[in-house]
Amino acid sequence: MLSLVMQDAINDQINNELFSSYSYLSMSSWCEYEQFVGSALWLRIQSQEEQAHALRLKDFLLARHCQVTFRAIEQPETNFESIVDVFEKTLAQEQRVTGQIDKLYELAFQEKAFAALVELEWFIAEQVEEEKSAREIAHKLRMVQNDPASLLDLDRELGQRSAAPEAGV
Ligand code: FE
Repeated sequence: MLSLVMQDAINDQINNELFSSYSYLSMSSWCEYEQFVGSALWLRIQSQEEQAHALRLKDFLLARHCQVTFRAIEQPETNFESIVDVFEKTLAQEQRVTGQIDKLYELAFQEKAFAALVELEWFIAEQVEEEKSAREIAHKLRMVQNDPASLLDLDRELGQRSAAPEAGV
């Protein structure tokens, strides 16, 4: 059984992951509206991955026979300055989530919640990957700046992303 403080913190993280999913969906829609269809697809898959993270934590709570509490999801940003802006915000978002996961892991450590520590290790490794890919894309976009031919190439490249099997989508 998890302590109440641990349950509460995991429920909070479910909300954080759902917010993350929601904001990627918003970014994806902005991109599609602006005709960056490859980026839109990449972000749509990213949104699905975040939803899968929320479900993974929900399943963990239930496996420990704890109650799941869904909280209200904050409204995400809907207007972006540019495609670079979108991916700068993607990176910032992932860095924020890394901080949340680290805090949660620290709490699990203090609470001696060993099963939660094991579960959260997956999330810690996942964040390394999430930050890495967001950083690479943001960097490439910054290099390309406003060169239309390179932007189109990069957008096409982002459109090659396929859903990761571990995301369960
Ligand atoms: Fe996530």
